[in-house]
Amino acid sequence: MSYSLTFLGTGGGRVVVFRQLRHSGGMWLSFDRFNILIDPGPGALIRMFERGLDPRDVDIFILSHRHLDHTADINAVLESATESTKKKKDILICPKDALKDCDSVVLPYLQKGLKSIEFIHEGKTIKYKNISINGLIKHIHKGADTYGLEIKNDSKSFVYVPCGRFFEGMLDGYPKGADLMVFNTTFTRPVPNVDHLSASDVRKMLLKLKPKKAIITHFSVQMLKASPQKVAENLSKETNVEVIASKDGLKVEF
Ligand SMILES: [Zn+2]
Ligand SMILES: [Zn+2]
Repeated sequence: MSYSLTFLGTGGGRVVVFRQLRHSGGMWLSFDRFNILIDPGPGALIRMFERGLDPRDVDIFILSHRHLDHTADINAVLESATESTKKKKDILICPKDALKDCDSVVLPYLQKGLKSIEFIHEGKTIKYKNISINGLIKHIHKGADTYGLEIKNDSKSFVYVPCGRFFEGMLDGYPKGADLMVFNTTFTRPVPNVDHLSASDVRKMLLKLKPKKAIITHFSVQMLKASPQKVAENLSKETNVEVIASKDGLKVEF
C-alpha cells in the first residue's frame, strides 16, 4: 500500500490558470491500493503523461466543484481512461450541479464510460472497496456547490479543503489530526468579496485542526509574488504544523 500525492498543477485564480503561470492539472492521490484523480483542470492529461502517470490506472475520479480550473480536462482524461467508453471505469464523484442537464462539465457520452456516478454533499459517505470518501462542510463559493472532502481507511486519512471563502463554521466542519491536509490557499490575506481562502484563514484552521502534515496550493498572482515557500515557512512557525508549499510536479509521501 502506498500513500502519496502528486501535484499535476498548483495554479489558482483566473490569471495564473488561464495564462498558465503555473500548471493546473489537479492532484493524483495514491491512497491504499487505489489511484484517485482530483480536480483535473486545464492540462491534466498532458501533465499525467509527463509524470509517467496513465489515466487508465485511475480508480476514482473526483471533481470538488464545477469551475473550469478544476474540471476542464475531465473529458479528455475520461476519453483516455476508458478508451472512449469501451473499458468502463468504476466511479466519478462530484457535486450534483457539476452534471446539470444542459450544462454538464462531463459530456453525456463519457458519463456512459463510468459504472457509477455518485453525488457528494455534506454528511454523505461514499464507500469504495475498503476506503470511504466523506462529504464535509459546504463551502461559500460563487457559482458552484463545493464541499470539503475526506478520504480515509482504517489507518490513514487525507483531507482536501477546496476553494471557498473562510467562515468560522469551517473550524468545526473539518476533522482534526488528518495525516495529510491540502488547502487551496489562493491569497496571503482575505480579499473582500472573493470566495477563496487566504493564508491567514489557513493559519486559524491549522491551529485548531492540527493535521500531521499540510500543503498549500492553488496560488494566485498575489500569492506567487509573496512566495508560497515563505508563506508556508511562516505558517509552520506560527502553528507548529509541517506546512509545505506545493510546486508543479511535487510528490509528497504521507
Ligand atoms: Zn472555484
Ligand atoms: Zn479554484
